[in-house]
Amino acid sequence: MRLSLARFRFDVTPPLGHSLCGGWIPPVSAIDDPLEAIGLVLLGAGQPIVLCAVDWTGLCNDAHVQWRRALAAAARTTPDRVAVQCLHQHDAPFVCLEADRIVRQQGDLSPNVAPAFFRRCLEAGKNAVTKALRSPRRITHVASAQAEVKDVASNRRMLDDQGRVLTNRSVAPGSEKLRQLPAGVIDPWLKNIAFYDGAEKVAACYYYAVHPISYCCQEGRVSSEFVGLARRLKQEHDRPGCTHLYFTGCAGNQNTGKYNNSDVKENRQRLTERVYAAMEAASEKLRPRPISQVVWKTHDILPPPRSDLSAKEIQAQINDASNRVVLRNRPAFTLAWLRRCEQRVPLTLSALHVNENVLLHLPGEPFVEYQLRAQALAPNRFIATAGYGDGGPWYIPTAEAYFQGGYEVKVAFCDPRIDPMLTDGILKLLSDDNAVE
Ligand SMILES: [Zn+2]
Repeated sequence: MRLSLARFRFDVTPPLGHSLCGGWIPPVSAIDDPLEAIGLVLLGAGQPIVLCAVDWTGLCNDAHVQWRRALAAAARTTPDRVAVQCLHQHDAPFVCLEADRIVRQQGDLSPNVAPAFFRRCLEAGKNAVTKALRSPRRITHVASAQAEVKDVASNRRMLDDQGRVLTNRSVAPGSEKLRQLPAGVIDPWLKNIAFYDGAEKVAACYYYAVHPISYCCQEGRVSSEFVGLARRLKQEHDRPGCTHLYFTGCAGNQNTGKYNNSDVKENRQRLTERVYAAMEAASEKLRPRPISQVVWKTHDILPPPRSDLSAKEIQAQINDASNRVVLRNRPAFTLAWLRRCEQRVPLTLSALHVNENVLLHLPGEPFVEYQLRAQALAPNRFIATAGYGDGGPWYIPTAEAYFQGGYEVKVAFCDPRIDPMLTDGILKLLSDDNAVE
């Protein structure tokens, strides 16, 4: 097998004044640090395979489809061989083109995205891929390792004695009591999969499940947050020539609430150091082995929307100018999901198998239980899960979580049927039959 990797990166920092997080927080006032899209094109295993990690809150529905199409065209492959996953920073763009059309009809709401900026990003992506393909690096070996991240992720759903959600442990100030409570269900491992040309590391992917938020949403200060800052540190300190990608795992119910008080801005630095330390620890354990097998798999699902959602009522809520902005902009995303379901455009889940390692790509904002489940389903393999692919369905709680209630369940666009659909999809992607390449 003759494999090579083309590595690309391009800037996706929004301009001053651009809306952030769907338009219900202050728009861009300053750039604390730039946002990037960083990716790999794997050549030599059938049609090219593209992986891309984007420093945005989310890419939903048509925006996600367009992004994958653009990268696919530049890489001369098909969109089903392109995984685009967001990191989910909040002082960052959260783009759904249909939601943007819906809010623009109102006239008084801040738009979701500037179309010219979005087009510029796609053009930059195409150019970056085209340029990268001129000088791909041979790859011969793969390695994987994991290291525990200390004191970063905690479960934000605080349950009462009956197992119902009592409250959310947020990063906002004033949650001191909640910070004392146990971390709850988390996945403490930062996973690392790296590709080599002989002994030289060419690309390293990191995966960890936590909302990448130290503080946000107040001042319009754009940042790639502590995960992007840790990635940059690693990029600077590691041997030159290696490209580092960070993916946010299934973090729908994971945040830094136990260890972080958004009042204390130094916490961003502390969290950066903790994630960076785990990146270093995992890197040191990497032992490259010859690549013997590469398989790409996809599985489409179209989970039905919640049956209590009515397009008419949602539109009325958006029209009601007495509602807070979030209660008008957010429903625009819901309406966009309903329309997408009517058009039967599925979500594509994918997995890249490299020897015993699996790079798993999931849509939406799944709860951490999904990545724990994925690893449990294949105990002999090393599963690294990225969430936040197509953001169309928003939160993906487990079936059990629907009965616990709480914020995420209330704003999820799908009902509990999404759990068995997603789990079955994961199982199919992890299955051992390697007929599909
Ligand atoms: Zn989120």
